[in-house]
Amino acid sequence: MSFDQLGAELQARKKQSLYRQRRILQSPQAPEVIVDGKACLAFCSNDYLGLANHPEVIAALKQGADLYGVGGGASHLVNGHSQAHHALEEELAEFTGRPRALLFSTGYMANIGAVNALLDKRDAVFQDRINHASLLDAGLLSGARFQRFLHNDADNLDNRLQRTEARRKLVVCDGVFSMDGDLAELPAICQTSAAHNAWVMVDDAHGFGCVGQQGRGTVDHFDLGSDQVQVLVGTLGKAFGTSGAFVAGSEELIETLIQHARTYIYTTSMSPAIASATRASLKLLQQDEWRREKLNHLIQRFRSGCEQLGLPLMASPTPIQPILVGEADRAMAISAALEAKGIFIGAIRPPTVPQGAARLRVTLSASHTDEQLDRLLDALSDVMAGLEV
Ligand SMILES: *Cc1c(COP(=O)(O)O)cnc(C)c1O
Repeated sequence: MSFDQLGAELQARKKQSLYRQRRILQSPQAPEVIVDGKACLAFCSNDYLGLANHPEVIAALKQGADLYGVGGGASHLVNGHSQAHHALEEELAEFTGRPRALLFSTGYMANIGAVNALLDKRDAVFQDRINHASLLDAGLLSGARFQRFLHNDADNLDNRLQRTEARRKLVVCDGVFSMDGDLAELPAICQTSAAHNAWVMVDDAHGFGCVGQQGRGTVDHFDLGSDQVQVLVGTLGKAFGTSGAFVAGSEELIETLIQHARTYIYTTSMSPAIASATRASLKLLQQDEWRREKLNHLIQRFRSGCEQLGLPLMASPTPIQPILVGEADRAMAISAALEAKGIFIGAIRPPTVPQGAARLRVTLSASHTDEQLDRLLDALSDVMAGLEV
């Protein structure tokens, strides 16, 4: 059998401006990067606090490699659970105010593992309709009855919970929505969930480090505890600047995951050197309040700049500041025009976002300067005027 069919599908995707292509990054993650041999100013990384290339984090990685080597060598349940992993878990438990935390190799795997350890076909899962793909996939894979509720709509969730007879009910949402940048309406969602005896799972991949006291995330921002949010997920590849993820919660939750989460059990542990690096970044993330202050300053400056230019922003208080542009081809044209001016911003297209809601996903980092932000605003002003918004 030939691959002609695949070739035709790929061609069709190109025609619709939906084809994805990778760039080669030839420098560390920073505002100024080299991409495909060209220097440019980037506004598309998730390194919100500028820790991915921080000297202390790099030093901790090297030291971790000296102490524990590079590879995890085995799964956590066999011989791959190092002292560095264990210490990081204890520090993450303290950071999140939960009895325990458990490391996973990626956020995708943490979500698949947690939902599938908790639910099967006797159960029901309720997801905000714009949840991250890994959460949606986790729910679908579990075999539980799967429902999506209207974005941030606790009344819609309430209706759905009312009509469900299931052994367990799990309500799942992002803490900060990754393509819109808005916060989950957690107080209302938790209240509704509690009224129906449903557990709440929050994936705060984009909230940790940016939101809440000392960067303790969206759940902390709303002053909610483990009685309201029983399953708390964080990823380490964003504001933490390293890689991996964790689930935090009760003793029973974590022990259940150790027994049943297949993406925990059947995989090699993350590099112990990465765990060491993450311990250093956790310290910086908590103590460097100036990084969050700087980020908030940049967010305000960007939003007021866009307002003056008449650019349609979304209601986001976070470093994710998408500019809605509509169709995919338009998003690609704007992104290409910005690139010609040396500015790199990701165009986000369907199916990642709904049809007609393509956007430039601007992300800000504490390591951007005011001057760099103003260069972005100037370029946006030129490009958008050229395209007649
Ligand atoms: C990035 C992201 C993930 C995936 O985390 P990785 O560690 O990159 O696999 C999961 N959930 C959300 C909301 C994310 O933004």
